[in-house]
Amino acid sequence: ELTNPALESDVELAFEGALRPRSLGEFVGQSKVRGQLQLLLTAATMQQRTPDHILLAGPPGLGKTTLAMIVAHEGDRPLRMSSGPAIQHAGDLAAVLSSLVPGEVLFIDEIHRMARSAEEMLYLAMEDFRIDIMVGKGAGATSVPLDLAPFTLVGATTRSGLLPNPLRDRFGFTAHLEFYDEAELEQVLARAAQLLELTIDREALAEIAGRCRGTPRIANRLLRRVRDYALVHGGGAGGADVHSVMAALELYDVDALGLDRLDRAVMETILTRFGGGPVGLNTLAVSVGEESETIEAVVEPFLVRIGLLTRTPRGRVATPQAWRHFGLSGPEAALT
Ligand code: ATP
Repeated sequence: ELTNPALESDVELAFEGALRPRSLGEFVGQSKVRGQLQLLLTAATMQQRTPDHILLAGPPGLGKTTLAMIVAHEGDRPLRMSSGPAIQHAGDLAAVLSSLVPGEVLFIDEIHRMARSAEEMLYLAMEDFRIDIMVGKGAGATSVPLDLAPFTLVGATTRSGLLPNPLRDRFGFTAHLEFYDEAELEQVLARAAQLLELTIDREALAEIAGRCRGTPRIANRLLRRVRDYALVHGGGAGGADVHSVMAALELYDVDALGLDRLDRAVMETILTRFGGGPVGLNTLAVSVGEESETIEAVVEPFLVRIGLLTRTPRGRVATPQAWRHFGLSGPEAALT
């Protein structure tokens, strides 16, 4: 699935690793967040303490993992990676926390999917660098406090709204990552092309930038397909122009707006089965056979951003632009 920001194979992961910016200076776009993080990290360094806990919120593929790595790298601190789904018991979290070294950065991806019992342990750990471990069972059980090394938690979530308030409040700073604009995506692509030793002109970069859902991960993935195409059809010369971009992306069904299969399924369902809406989130999710959380956190933000969809109190509604993009005549046309 070429434009699904949440899916990645092992090859993609190795490729992503190679293209990951290592410092805030190399990180493209998100200038607000970059400035905020820079200040927080610099202040911590000046006071020789661990930086405050940081929450990174936003759709997949916008650079949350990359920023967590940068936080560690800029402060020359070790990094431990974990994820909410891997922490299903308080004991899983206790094992991680108790083995942290002083100043370590702990990254928890999809932190909203952590077990409740672990969440409560995390409150105390974040606030006091301490946890209580239960020893024994039943009436004889006692809790033994355990001091932790000071650490910086970097949490990532596609749904900051799902985090309980006590957890959200314990982060010193929440960064809201936004979709990238086309100029920024061109920079991401130009940098990646250079690392891949692919010769590609501005026009070709712009064409890709317009089709990657405002998402660097997708930009890099499309660029890789374009490189394949240029390699095969360019006789190994290794250069890509706008024609090879168009041909490669057409081959992979990436349309002019970069909509993927699920985006299209959602829009077509609203347009053709529900007359343009309004339709409720759960009904929509069932109709396209996808979880409502995925629709809400991954699909809708982009459709709203490019003006195909609006969220109203009564449900999701297709815009006139959506009717046009799908080549259908909308309800207004039917009335006239
Ligand atoms: P997920 O939450 O799904 O893991 P993510 O938001 O953590 O996604 P990353 O894994 O950090 O996304 O980034 C995906 C890819 O996009 C990486 O290969 C990285 O190189 C590239 N990338 C992300 N942000 C930027 C950026 N600002 N500049 C350059 N490349 C970027």
